[in-house]
Amino acid sequence: MSKIKSVEIKIGLEVHCQLTNLKTKLFCSCSSDYREKEPNTLICPICMGMPGTLPVLNEKALEDAIMVAIALNSKISERMLFFRKNYFYPDMPKNFQISQYDKAGGVPLALGGYIQINGKKVRIRRIQLEEDPGKLSYEGTIESSTYALVDYNRAGIALIEIVTEPDMETPKEARLFLEKLRSILEHLGISNGSLEGSMRCDANISLRGGKRVEIKNISSFKEVERALNFEITRQKSLIERGIAVGQETRHWDEVRRITISLRTKEEEQDYRYFPEPDLVPVIISKDQIKKIEQSMPELPDERRKRFIEQYHLSPQTAEILTHSKAMADFFEESAKLYDKPREISNWLTVEFLSYLHDRGIEIDELTLSPKHLVDMLKLIDEGIISRKMARSVLQDMLLTGKMPDAIVKEKGLEKILDREYVRRIVEKIFKENPQAVKDAIVDKKAINYLMGQLMKATEGKIDPKMAGEIIRERLSKLSKFATS
Ligand SMILES: [Zn+2]
Repeated sequence: MSKIKSVEIKIGLEVHCQLTNLKTKLFCSCSSDYREKEPNTLICPICMGMPGTLPVLNEKALEDAIMVAIALNSKISERMLFFRKNYFYPDMPKNFQISQYDKAGGVPLALGGYIQINGKKVRIRRIQLEEDPGKLSYEGTIESSTYALVDYNRAGIALIEIVTEPDMETPKEARLFLEKLRSILEHLGISNGSLEGSMRCDANISLRGGKRVEIKNISSFKEVERALNFEITRQKSLIERGIAVGQETRHWDEVRRITISLRTKEEEQDYRYFPEPDLVPVIISKDQIKKIEQSMPELPDERRKRFIEQYHLSPQTAEILTHSKAMADFFEESAKLYDKPREISNWLTVEFLSYLHDRGIEIDELTLSPKHLVDMLKLIDEGIISRKMARSVLQDMLLTGKMPDAIVKEKGLEKILDREYVRRIVEKIFKENPQAVKDAIVDKKAINYLMGQLMKATEGKIDPKMAGEIIRERLSKLSKFATS
């Protein structure tokens, strides 16, 4: 893996995002809420491609797609067309997909634009609106299955396709791009990235200016980095052995974590794109764009700037927090309940993030609310638990979802606040360690030994400040007694 850096790598992405907030499909009034539904129940003659039916464009889908184009700094077409992409596949009853095309007179929704990741601009080539095909289910994996089942409930769901230029140079950059895109779409309120299959991605990658290999069907953003890392290793080993990398399409096998050759890459002309005769060209006026622009919610980049100003966070911290909408929301909810935003951000960006990374989950998948975190921080402020104890309380909260005070009581973690109780323990320690007491009377440094004994006896549940006070108080009484 270490040699990979010296090889020029170009990665481009083609991302498909469902507009999950829509009630209906892109060209018919079937419900788009297809998850966990009985197969083939949310269908109609239009999305099944029956003869004589006519598609009608979902206006809200167009508005959502325009929002995305604005957010990605793209140039929106004044007049866009739908094209038919013809091919046979069992998940597509019409034998064509209504999509868009940027050649042969085709005009997609928007061209150009960019997303900024860590100060680098990744250019967007085009954004288009299209319909999702149905869903094939295999017994086991695509390779081992002897049959496929098809469910058309997903056929006709509105998708936006976002194609980037090959501007990413590492698999990590590809992951960051996708996370940022997801954060933007979630801030726009048009797509919920945590729904299964709502964001899918194909990646193309070439090494050292060689042939492009496309990796299809990467079902989640988490898998993209893995798939690309595998592909880099595979292509590098071919190059090192003097074997040319062929242009082809490969499938990412999530279970075995390898890519498998599916077919040599088909060419665009194989799809016989032509204008969709059943849909009129869509005119997008400047007024319409302006109106949508004015209604746009706050986006991650703006939110990051606001976090720096409003909560006095460092640019890095603000970047990490706004990288995911769920995380940014968690932070702001917590900040409403507790007036030390930097304290909150410290816990989120260190303890929470490492927990989430280890498990590959998002903060909104936790059973934990901002109140959990805030209550825990208040327990620290009140001196009931130390920071060190708070870390273990947090781990418990993350695992069980219990409130911090309940965990503290259950585990007997409260600091000992009863001075009389501590005095009695000090008395006992003094009796057991007469020499140490004598030393401590003449040498202040020797107090440390007695402190250590007290901490041990109380299992560290005592405030060091109070411990010092009580020991010194006792010593001063003894020294007065000794000198009088
Ligand atoms: Zn339908």
